[in-house]
Amino acid sequence: MDYFDIAETWSRDQIAEEQVKRLRENIKHACKAPFYAKRFADAGISPESIHAPEDIQKLPFMCKDDLRACYPYALSCVDKSEFVRMHCSSGTTGSPVAICYTKRDLEKWADLMARSMYTAGLRKTDIFQNMSGYGLFTGGLGIHYGSERLGMMTIPAGAGNTRRQIKLINDFGVTAVHILPSYAMHVAEQVRVMGADPRKLPIKRALVGAEPYTEETRKRIEEMLDIKVFNNFGMSEMNGPGVGIECEAQGGMHVWEDAYILEIIDPETGRLVPDGEIGELTLTTLTREGMPVLRYRTHDLTRIIPGECPCGRKHRRIDRILGRSDDMFILKGVNIYPMQIEQVLMSYPEVGQNYLIQLESDGQRDTMRVKVEIREENFVEDMRVLRALQERIARRLFDEILVTPIVDLVQANSLPQSDGKAKRVIDLRVKQ
Ligand code: AMP
Ligand code: ZN
Repeated sequence: MDYFDIAETWSRDQIAEEQVKRLRENIKHACKAPFYAKRFADAGISPESIHAPEDIQKLPFMCKDDLRACYPYALSCVDKSEFVRMHCSSGTTGSPVAICYTKRDLEKWADLMARSMYTAGLRKTDIFQNMSGYGLFTGGLGIHYGSERLGMMTIPAGAGNTRRQIKLINDFGVTAVHILPSYAMHVAEQVRVMGADPRKLPIKRALVGAEPYTEETRKRIEEMLDIKVFNNFGMSEMNGPGVGIECEAQGGMHVWEDAYILEIIDPETGRLVPDGEIGELTLTTLTREGMPVLRYRTHDLTRIIPGECPCGRKHRRIDRILGRSDDMFILKGVNIYPMQIEQVLMSYPEVGQNYLIQLESDGQRDTMRVKVEIREENFVEDMRVLRALQERIARRLFDEILVTPIVDLVQANSLPQSDGKAKRVIDLRVKQ
C-alpha cells in the first residue's frame, strides 16, 4: 500500500493496542480539567478501567451543551499559555463551541490532514486551491496546514469571488481543490456562463465535504468538472477536517482510528448498533492535548461499512453522512431529512445546481414547498413540458417521503447561493 503515515498500514490488533494505550493516557490527562475529573470520579472511571477499546463504553457521553457550558476555557488540560490557536464550530444558534489548540495539536492535525489528502490521491506535485472560507471555520486553516504539510503549492483562495477563483485555477494550473458541494456546482455553472467548458479546467481531484451531499450530487460534480470527488469529513470538536476521508475506492470514508475512537450508537438507547446499521456517530479524540473531547455525540447519522476496503487500510469506513439528527424536520407527522429530497432532485438532468425547502403553514395545514432551479436550456421549454416535469418531481418526492410537496421550478442561479455551508431548509411555519 502506498501510504503517507505508517499508522495507515496498521492491522486491527495494532490499532486496538494503540487505542487502549492512548485512551488510558487520555483519561489521565483529561482529569487536569475539573470538568472531566468530576465526571470520571462520579462514573468511577480511571485509566485502569480500560483494557480493550470497547471499554470506551464505560465513559459518560458528552454533547454540544457540555461544550457550550465549558466555553471558553473550561475543557483546557494545559496552561492557557500553551494555546496557539482557536476555532469555532459553525453553528448559528446558541452560544458557540470553541476549541483551543496547542502547537502539538496543530502538528498532529496537519499530519492527519496531509495523510487524508494523500489517501485521496493528492501528491506533493499537485497545485492545490482551498476554496472554502478561512477564519474561524476549520476548513480554511485546517485544510491549508495539511496541504502544506503534504508539500503542495497551496492557494488560499477562500470562499466566494467565483470569477477570481476560476482565473486562479486556470492561471496556476490548479490540479486539486477543497470545496463545499454546493459551491462546486456553482463554480462549474459559472464557468459555463462565462462561455468556457468546465470539463476543460485543469482540476483532476477534489476533496468535497463540510456539509451533507448525496451520491447523485457527487456524480454530478464529477461529471460537470470531469474530476474525481473524495468525500472528506470532520468537525471542529474533533480538530476539524481530517477525521475521515475516502480512498481511491471511493466506497466510504476511512476514520483514522489511531487518532479517534469511532462508535455508532442508537440515539435512543446509547448502545452500539451492529456494523452496517445507521446510528449516531460518536467520536473520541485520542491524541489531542489542549482540549481532549471524549465520547462526543456528534448528531451525525451514518453507518459503518462492513467488510474490508480494497485499498488495504484497516481503519474502518463510515458511509456518507445522511444528515444530522437535528436537520430532520417533521411534516404532517413524517420525519424527513433534506438529503432524501436532494437525492430525488439531483437524479433529474433538467434540475440545476440549487434547491431550497420551505416549510409553510396557514395556521391549520402545513405544507412543504420545494424550490428547484432548472437548467437554463430546460427553463425555456414549453409550459406543458415544464408542468409535466414539475408533476414527475412531485410524484417521485411523494414516493420517497410520503408527503406531497408543492414544487416550484425556478430559473438557474435565482436561489440564494451561500459562501459557506448551504442552508437547505427554511421553516416558516407558525409556531403554536
Ligand atoms: P463544523 O461546525 O464546521 O465543525 O461542522 C461539522 C459538521 O459538518 C459535522 O458534524 C457534519 O454535520 C458536517 N460535515 C462535515 N463534513 C461532512 C461531510 N463530508 N459530509 C456530511 N456532513 C459533513
Ligand atoms: Zn480504502
